[in-house]
Amino acid sequence: MKTKKVNSSRMPVYRDAGFELYDASTTGKAFEKEPENERIPDLYIYSRYRNPTVIAAEEEIMNLEGCGWALLTQSGMSAVDTALSIFQRGSLTRPWLFFNEIYGGTISFIESILRKRRGVEALSFYPSGERYDTTEFARVAEKEKPEVIYVEVVSNPMLIVTDLVEIIGVARKTGSKVIVDNTFATPMLCKPLDLGADLVIHSATKYFSGHGNITAGVICGNDDSLMHEAVEYRKYIGHMISPDDAYRLNTQIKTFRLRFMQQCRNASAITKVLKSSPAVRKVWYPGLPEHETHSVALKLFADRGFGGMITFDFAGDSAEEERRKRDLFISAVSEDIKIIPSLGDPKTIIMPVESVWGAKYPEPGLIRMSAGFEDTEMITGIIKEVLEKL
Ligand code: PLP
Repeated sequence: MKTKKVNSSRMPVYRDAGFELYDASTTGKAFEKEPENERIPDLYIYSRYRNPTVIAAEEEIMNLEGCGWALLTQSGMSAVDTALSIFQRGSLTRPWLFFNEIYGGTISFIESILRKRRGVEALSFYPSGERYDTTEFARVAEKEKPEVIYVEVVSNPMLIVTDLVEIIGVARKTGSKVIVDNTFATPMLCKPLDLGADLVIHSATKYFSGHGNITAGVICGNDDSLMHEAVEYRKYIGHMISPDDAYRLNTQIKTFRLRFMQQCRNASAITKVLKSSPAVRKVWYPGLPEHETHSVALKLFADRGFGGMITFDFAGDSAEEERRKRDLFISAVSEDIKIIPSLGDPKTIIMPVESVWGAKYPEPGLIRMSAGFEDTEMITGIIKEVLEKL
């Protein structure tokens, strides 16, 4: 078979490391056009730069986030690295301001890479109790005039919803760029670029891939100059996703909306079961009226749902009693609900908070749960039955 074209309805996996450029003039044209990241089918050069299978998956994400460009990377952390590093300008870099309730890996990246190795002045903004004080944030931002502000829409594990409207408003006054990690909220609940954020990143390992079998990340934006910087950084650092992972992501992301809707539904239903059990002391879920940032969730998410993550604590007269109930629960559900250090999986999964975060959160019985997209009756039935025996 001489022809390369077949009647496939989807973008195949192009595993070519380098693409055929036919003659000197095509080669010249391909290299000349390359920095523009134009989506020209005949001028692919090298898969670390651009790849058709990767671009097809990026186009799916552009549709979901409603943005002008999306760049896939081989992990959520490489998306974090790319989004931040494009603002680094040697000794000219002004301070960066990080909301402190963010993914632990990002906190470690700030400490071990940005502060320790690169000498970036990375400042942390802490919550006041279980919410961020936006007046205090405005005061700090106006004083520090950060170059970059970095925030997650829904924090981990206490599920603080951050008032992006206020934060982006402050950032406009201080001339700061805003990077939003939208992994937990997803574009189903919130589209930060529409609110004026400069970059959105995701760990696509989570809800976008949704089956716990791909590690991937993505950076999304509308500003072409930021895209050029990100394309260049991804190319030279080598953060490009593999065509195989991009292909699988492109398949799995087609069911993202359906999956996420069911995950939100299950999280709400599980929350009700947890709330009605005397074995549970407290439940954190942004959909609950008593959640500290419920009003912010309503402001940002309207009636689209409150996400698939729940955190809860067991009742007990002592720390030992809370831990005992936690451990009994973990072992009783273990056939159906496993401890897996991730989220957004098909099945409901859990993490014991104390084992990961130590004493950072004082309640020893805390469990973070990622609702799956199983049948609602089935998953709530399993949890209810176990709680009744505690
Ligand atoms: N951002 C958030 C909110 C996360 O939860 C994670 C991972 O858990 C990451 C970024 C990093 O993503 P990855 O594990 O795909 O590198």
